[in-house]
Amino acid sequence: MQSLNADLHCHSNVSDGTLTPEEVAARAHRNGVELWSLTDHDEIGGQERARDAAHRLGMSYLSGSEISVTFAGRTVHIVGLGFDASHADLAHGLAATRGGREQRARNMAADLERVGVHGAFEGALKYVGNPDLISRTHFARYMVEIGVCKELSDVFKRYLTEGKPGYVEHRWAKLSDAVRWITEAGGVAVIAHPGRYDLTPNEEFALFDEFKALGGLGVEVVTGSHTVPEYQKYADLACELDLLASRGSDFHDPKESHTDLGTLPALPKRVRPVWEALAHRVQHP
Ligand code: AMP
Ligand code: MN
Ligand code: MN
Ligand code: MN
Repeated sequence: MQSLNADLHCHSNVSDGTLTPEEVAARAHRNGVELWSLTDHDEIGGQERARDAAHRLGMSYLSGSEISVTFAGRTVHIVGLGFDASHADLAHGLAATRGGREQRARNMAADLERVGVHGAFEGALKYVGNPDLISRTHFARYMVEIGVCKELSDVFKRYLTEGKPGYVEHRWAKLSDAVRWITEAGGVAVIAHPGRYDLTPNEEFALFDEFKALGGLGVEVVTGSHTVPEYQKYADLACELDLLASRGSDFHDPKESHTDLGTLPALPKRVRPVWEALAHRVQHP
C-alpha cells in the first residue's frame, strides 16, 4: 500500500489555491494520483465538488481540510482526513475559525498602508475565490502584481511574517478543538508539515505529546514542505510515537508551487500509511 499514489494535501480557489476543485482533480488524475484529498484551509465548501470530480475521473477520494491552530503562541496546521463533512460541530468550528479573517485582513492592509503599500485589502480581494477565506497568500499575489516584490516567497520574507510590517497576530482554533472536530466527525487528525514550524526540540515534543494525548493519530512525513532529510526525520518520529504517516504535495498553483500533485516520492517502508487506517472512509468512484 506504500506504493499507492496518494496526495492528501492540496488547495483550490475555495481557499488560497488558484485552480477550481475540478481543475485540481483533473491535474491530480493526470499526474497519476489514485487517492486524493482536497484540503482547503479552514473550509469544507469545496468537498462535494472535489469528490464528484474525482469520481468522474475514476479517482478515490478522502474528505479533507487543513485547520489553522494556535498552539503555545505559534500557528500550526492540522489536516483532517476522512471525516463526515456534514458533521455539525466540525462545520461550526471551521466557520468560527474562518470568521476572524476579514478583520485580520483589514488590519494587515492598515499595517501595509503605513509602509507605503496602498489598497492592499481591495487588491488582495481580487485574488480571493471565497470571500470568507482571505489569506496572506492573496496579499502576496497582489504585492507581486504591483511590483513590491518579484516572488511570493519574498513578500512573506519581507512583509507577512512575524516581526515584519503586514504581519498581524491572530488567534486561530485551539489544538484540542481542531482534533476533536475531526475525530468526532469520524476522521483522522494529522500534524501538517511539522518541519515548517521552526520549533525547538522541546516545543516540538510538547506539540506531538499534546496532539497524541488529544487523540491525534497522524503526521505528514512526505510533503512538498519538507526537505529529503525531513522525510527521514519525521518517518523516524512516526515510528517512535506510533503515528500514521501521510503524504501530500501542498499544491496551490501550477507556477507558484514547486511540488506538483502526485509527484512526491513514496512514504518510507517503515511507516504505516494513514490511508490504511482510513480504508473504511475512502469514497470509491
Ligand atoms: P494564512 O492562513 O492567511 O496565514 O496564510 C497561510 C498561507 O500562506 C499558507 O497556507 C501558505 O499557502 C502561504 N505561505 C506561508 N508562508 C509562505 C512562504 N514563505 N512562501 C509562500 N507562501 C507561504
Ligand atoms: Mn496555503
Ligand atoms: Mn499549511
Ligand atoms: Mn496547505
